[in-house]
Amino acid sequence: MDRTYLIKPALDEEYPVIDFGKGVYLYDMEGKKYLDGASGAVTANIGHGVEEIIQAMKKQAGQVSFVYRSQFTSRPAEELAEKIAMAMPGDLNWSFFVNSGSEATETAMKIAIQYWQEKGRSMKTKILSRWVSYHGITLGALSMSGHPGRRSRFIPLLADFPVISPPYCYRCPFNKEPSSCGLECAEELDLAIRRIGADSIAAFIAEPVVGASGGAITPPKGYYKAIRRICDEHGILFIADEVMTGFGRTGKMLALEHWEVTPDIVSLGKGMGAGYAPIAAALVSEKVMLPIRNGSGTIMSGHTLSANPQSCAAALAVMEYLEKNKVLSRVEENGVYLRNLLEKMKASYPFIGNIRGMGLLLGVEFVADPATKTSFPRSLNFTGSIVKLAQEAGLLLYPAAAGLDGVSGDAVILSPPLTINKRELEELVRLFRRVLDKAGRELVPQNGG
Ligand code: PMP
Repeated sequence: MDRTYLIKPALDEEYPVIDFGKGVYLYDMEGKKYLDGASGAVTANIGHGVEEIIQAMKKQAGQVSFVYRSQFTSRPAEELAEKIAMAMPGDLNWSFFVNSGSEATETAMKIAIQYWQEKGRSMKTKILSRWVSYHGITLGALSMSGHPGRRSRFIPLLADFPVISPPYCYRCPFNKEPSSCGLECAEELDLAIRRIGADSIAAFIAEPVVGASGGAITPPKGYYKAIRRICDEHGILFIADEVMTGFGRTGKMLALEHWEVTPDIVSLGKGMGAGYAPIAAALVSEKVMLPIRNGSGTIMSGHTLSANPQSCAAALAVMEYLEKNKVLSRVEENGVYLRNLLEKMKASYPFIGNIRGMGLLLGVEFVADPATKTSFPRSLNFTGSIVKLAQEAGLLLYPAAAGLDGVSGDAVILSPPLTINKRELEELVRLFRRVLDKAGRELVPQNGG
């Protein structure tokens, strides 16, 4: 190929061409093997080339791949919605299928606004969110996202902006330690609602564990109970963006289950189709559906490929695979195993500032000085270089922004397929160590050097 016609993230770079994938590995056309330590972008949750999914998709393709949702429903869409309703906590019984995480959070936002309209409260349209967050690239989802790097070009077009601080314990915005923590970061939501006025607010949205913009930032224990209480006290809905954390990534169908909290609306994506098909969803509780069903009787949103039978068949097969192989029950144990391996190596790398996360969604934040938590200069592009070194070494990592401003810090996410075994986890850490050894020699500015 002497030129490309495909727009890829870095226009002038050459990308390896992947030939095939099997289990936790991808193989490129040159025969190079990559351990998928990030499941792509926290997506390939059951690994690559799983025969059951391939067969289910073939079968569906042999029947029908597309029907238009305004004319028909389909068996896989109905079955998937039912299976999800059974697997989800509380009264999260309704699924609105879309094709990407961004569409899922946009849909969630619109449903929240419509809910209040149906109840005669049409002034309640604002969606509050946190800094150091990511909810998607479309303009509505980006408006809610506290990701300065992704927002900056479009600021004049964005409708809203995040208002509260992230629950970022390593860099507590309130300078607290775990022993002195009074969940100030959650209480800030109460203050923000009182300042802005609950009469104009439809919902608050948060990622249970912050992904792309923070590197698996995990809030303290009582955090979401406090958030749920504050939302209820002020009469605003709570939307959980579980695009990255949902479908088993943390060992439960929803990460919020770890905090024993049920949201009103949930966005799902990524692991739902596990990369086999583009599919995502807004899950809606009975409470939110009731005034809509009694009112206009329809939700004002949708896409041509919503509830696409082919994608639904893939997601259904993924769910069946998770159940049959009891995948979720292994996530916690595997997560603890990986975390312990990482904690053990931490002492050898003074530029590892913090290891965090939950289940098989772990983040490693890098710092120039662990005593002061000072980040590396931006010009170093530390995260980008680590990810590149890793790819060269045959290990795939997911780059994340970090820092209280969402731009000044460096982090990577380790999120291998949930089906990974212990030997493969050890290999992942061996490769990661090799990458960090090289980074220590080549990237970290040497004292007095
Ligand atoms: N929400 C969260 C929490 C995400 O992590 C992402 C993707 N990184 C999105 C929304 C957007 O999903 P998509 O890229 O599929 O549009």
